Amino acid sequence: MTIFEKIAAGQIPARIVHEVEDFIAFHDIQAQAPVHVLIVPRKCITRITEADVSHADMLGRMLLATREIAAKLGVLESGYRIVINNGRDAGESVPHLHIHLLAGRALAWPPG
Ligand code: AMP
Repeated sequence: MTIFEKIAAGQIPARIVHEVEDFIAFHDIQAQAPVHVLIVPRKCITRITEADVSHADMLGRMLLATREIAAKLGVLESGYRIVINNGRDAGESVPHLHIHLLAGRALAWPPG
């Protein structure tokens, strides 16, 4: 099991902010911004390049859930960035697809 599957199964604690049947969102343990949440499918897809059309509905709902999560955490008006690190050069460190939601300060662009 990946660390995120263990969190989804309740075997590892996490600060959960949003849960539905097929995905979950929780605060990143090493926050890179005042708000840093990960949105994660309960079942492991290794990375976005491993996803297929059977995941399209869930991936769409994960993106749409960012609005609800941002509202809950008070950053809907100030704005937020969503990021998926896919593969080594992108800095992927956990091989279980996740969307980062970052907010709460002005974020630099381009990213490093
Ligand atoms: P990435 O580098 O895009 O694969 O992102 C993985 C993220 O998972 C990093 O930002 C880590 O800080 C975060 N992370 C790793 N373990 C945990 C955990 N147990 N709870 C919450 N976030 C975690």
